[in-house]
Amino acid sequence: MNSSIEYAEKIGTDNRIARDMRGKFELDAVLAMDLEGNIVKLNSSFEAIIGFKEDKLCGNSLWGIVEPNSLEKVVSNFNQAREGKYQNFDCQFIHKSGSHIDLNIINLPIVLDGEIVGVYGVVKDITEIKQKRQQVREREVLYHLLTDHSLDMITKSNKDGKLQYVSPYCFDLLGYTPKELIGKSTYDLVHMDDVEKLLSSHEMVIRNHSNGRVSFRMEHKTGYYIWVESLCKSIVKEDCGEIRLISVIRDISERKKTEELLLNSEKLSAAGQLAAGIAHEVRNPLTAIKGFLQLMDGNKKYEDSYFSIINSEINRIELILSELLLLSKPQDLKFKECNLFETLKQIKTLIDTHATMSNIEIDLNYLTAIQTIVCDENQLKQVFINFLKNAIEAMPKGGEISLNVRSEGEDTLKVQIIDQGNGIPKEHLERLGQPFFTTKETGTGLGFMISMKIIENHHGKIEIASNENGTTIEVTLPTYQ
Ligand code: ADP
Ligand code: MG
Repeated sequence: MNSSIEYAEKIGTDNRIARDMRGKFELDAVLAMDLEGNIVKLNSSFEAIIGFKEDKLCGNSLWGIVEPNSLEKVVSNFNQAREGKYQNFDCQFIHKSGSHIDLNIINLPIVLDGEIVGVYGVVKDITEIKQKRQQVREREVLYHLLTDHSLDMITKSNKDGKLQYVSPYCFDLLGYTPKELIGKSTYDLVHMDDVEKLLSSHEMVIRNHSNGRVSFRMEHKTGYYIWVESLCKSIVKEDCGEIRLISVIRDISERKKTEELLLNSEKLSAAGQLAAGIAHEVRNPLTAIKGFLQLMDGNKKYEDSYFSIINSEINRIELILSELLLLSKPQDLKFKECNLFETLKQIKTLIDTHATMSNIEIDLNYLTAIQTIVCDENQLKQVFINFLKNAIEAMPKGGEISLNVRSEGEDTLKVQIIDQGNGIPKEHLERLGQPFFTTKETGTGLGFMISMKIIENHHGKIEIASNENGTTIEVTLPTYQ
């Protein structure tokens, strides 16, 4: 104890190292020990770290506040410093509260008149840094676990699409190892027709710092294409401001197949339901033809005029049957110029019979000179047939359906289907578009979902207004894709 006080006095008065250190390490915690490891002096920063006041520690052995697992390390470093060697190490001490604290300690010998008389400890509390490091390490492990085992392909690229990281799932999805893809451009793997779509989605993500969701086709190493959906986010590297795109890419080929199946089953169901009306419609001209053939039998005089009637009736049968076949046949998506007025007239021909059976008149008002629209005609037909069928089915007592077409500006057409049905209750409105939502005994509940998908593919939109006096469906479509 006496010797400790002696050291303290010496250190306080004439040790040049101590004076030197006080200036340098003002913020650091410092303590001084004698050669046996007894604490001789400490500053308020060390008090703050350890929780004890100076008078509680001075005169006591340093080992008493060292966490047992660190004791060997602390003693051996202390001994090295006592031999005159500078030491820097991390260890754990015990705080007054009993908790463990992580410290970084620099041990320096205290030299007086050329003789080592004790050891300094310059102490830094690194508990928080350690915790943060641990958190970062844990996050890294988690991140690797997630990306390496994810059933999605995760990629990181620069803003031009050059791949910097690809998760191992790319082998299952595309047949490439990550190594084969790093350095390549994302866009080289994308179907030619979808590159534009992906590029503009990425541009939007970068511009608005938003998330982008887009579906497109990627090419498998063996040459076939897979439908995927990517969720993309941009991050800005803090140090250099460079932009990175992180994408989570999911195989949606199964979903696409299901969508296609649903589309076809709705088509078949619509065709089946329309068939009754069509059979009726076909029977009428057939009856007429039969009658005229009987009249013509042996009656040369009327042959010419009867022939032209028979001809036009047969044409009508042909038209109706070909529309029906078209409706039930699965078709690939094909965008080309078509005449919307003609298309709507054909739809009217097909559906009029169905309407008449319910005492309904369909009134087609084409109120604009713009008729050409780039679209997949068969798909648009399916949309309008579905909306007209819905309108007819909502009007069991008959009435009128208006089918109006207007232009909105030079490159937008708006098709309105206005019925006088019993309307769609508010609680049903939000369920429209969910697959299989139907209030009809023989309904598929797919019409709305498919129509929405088709209009979305055409970059258009659907608006619905409904009350107890009827429903108005508005389909807005750009004339060019
Ligand atoms: P489905 O016609 O097979 O029932 P849809 O998806 O076409 O399937 O329509 C879903 C539901 O929306 C219908 O069952 C009906 O309740 C409601 N609905 C759709 N259009 C109308 C309409 N014009 N008037 C009243 N209800 C409608
Ligand atoms: Mg329907």
